[in-house]
Amino acid sequence: MQNSSEAIETGLKMLINGELVAGERTLEVEDPATGGVFARVACASASQIDAAVLAAAAAFPAWSATPLADRQALLTAVADRIDAALETLATLITREQGKPLADARVEVGATSYFLRHYASVQFPVEVIEDSAQKRIEMHRDPLGVVAAIVPWNFPLLTACNKLGAALLTGNTVVVKPAATTPVATLHLGALVRDLLPAGVLNIVTDQNDLGAVLTGHPQVRKISFTGSTATGSKVMASAATSLKRVTLELGGNDSGIVLDDCDPQTVAPLLFNAAFMNCGQVCIALKRLYVHDTQYAAVCAELAKLADAASVGPGIEDAHRFGPVQNRTQYDKLKTLLVEAREQGRVVAGGDTPAGPGYFIRPTIVADMPDDSRLVSEEQFGPILPVIRYSDLDDAIARANDTRYGLGNSVWSSSTERAERVAARLDSGTVWINQHGDFGPDIPFAGAKMSGIGVEMSALGLHEFTQSRVISRAKTTVV
Ligand code: NAD
Repeated sequence: MQNSSEAIETGLKMLINGELVAGERTLEVEDPATGGVFARVACASASQIDAAVLAAAAAFPAWSATPLADRQALLTAVADRIDAALETLATLITREQGKPLADARVEVGATSYFLRHYASVQFPVEVIEDSAQKRIEMHRDPLGVVAAIVPWNFPLLTACNKLGAALLTGNTVVVKPAATTPVATLHLGALVRDLLPAGVLNIVTDQNDLGAVLTGHPQVRKISFTGSTATGSKVMASAATSLKRVTLELGGNDSGIVLDDCDPQTVAPLLFNAAFMNCGQVCIALKRLYVHDTQYAAVCAELAKLADAASVGPGIEDAHRFGPVQNRTQYDKLKTLLVEAREQGRVVAGGDTPAGPGYFIRPTIVADMPDDSRLVSEEQFGPILPVIRYSDLDDAIARANDTRYGLGNSVWSSSTERAERVAARLDSGTVWINQHGDFGPDIPFAGAKMSGIGVEMSALGLHEFTQSRVISRAKTTVV
């Protein structure tokens, strides 16, 4: 592997049926810090995606019959390989995704942590009734081939969260990374090819054009999708024909409500991290901040100080806290939002795009944006935070809930009781108190409203990779 920022990474292949396979097409991958191509990798044709699904289907009977302990041992072995390749994987993530190396290392570490968690999970038969008359047991069987479709913000972690859960529960998998971030995931395929039986894990790429081939494939039994709400709707429609199971983890427009009893200096750094982690490109980033009138000016000023102090530059240089946003489409959309912020609100920090190549946007704090502006009412998915004034808490809660999204919300208060009362009224899959964005493999993660369907992570998430089979036995003698 070449590490310098000018080097072009070539030759990464897909993993299909246990073989590293060249693509019938080529995918060029940009480094968002330069806007130049840094990798040319294998890209599938429709028939190669078909071959991957058929390989996964052929591998399913033996894999699903493999004892759980053996599947767990293989997941641990995958995690070991990831740990051993930490620096290489982190460098590739930084080159393709843009995040600083320190954050890329955190992503790789989290990936192996998630896999080790799945490798430790048991899902025993549940006994529903065991009486003198009958015994009823609930077994959980794997579904078959899982299509794991991944976005570009946390490419390796999201892919491995899905494949860990799917393989543990006895399914086989076809992973498709986003077209702008396939590199670390393809590298993973090469790392683990000899560990897993052929066809159990397949990794294919596209040019953002063949997702429907995968989701419409008759042999795919479940789709685990993370991405935008617009694409999630298409995935669901495509799954309908053959009644595939779907888990959809979609967009969000998370709010935070700062109550009037918070200290602005204490709360601001926590809010800043919640909004700007991964350059704001997190489904559960804080995307709208409601602050009480009495503290509005002070919170805006504290956030502005942090934004002004933030160092922005190529993630590979290690010195910067913020890299570029991931791709040109997103960069162009965010630049339009910056224009609207200047026209409709008051930019109190940032607001500019540094000169030079790459998709850099300084962390931006915008005050006084109207509720119906796009920055407030839509998902920005980038480093621009609107701070919105409120004077009546009921009104703030109503405005926080007035969205088609329902991924997460947070409440910030020095009173646990007050915070819990507000939390109970917020309409989202998760509500955090005095934090925002905490998640883990043992915590159920689900979106309300148009932020998703189903649950990922935790026992509930694992159940979504299985079909229940009830064995109901009467304790009567039939001879
Ligand atoms: P996207 O919907 O454009 O793409 C996601 C994936 O879907 C990519 O792999 C893409 O190639 C594929 N795809 C595109 N068209 C398809 C089709 N017709 N059928 C099947 N697959 C298709 O999303 P994105 O821009 O890569 O990611 C950003 C979005 O993802 C944001 O909205 C963000 O909030 C959301 N997201 C949600 C979560 C969550 O857990 N809820 C996590 C991360 C990101």
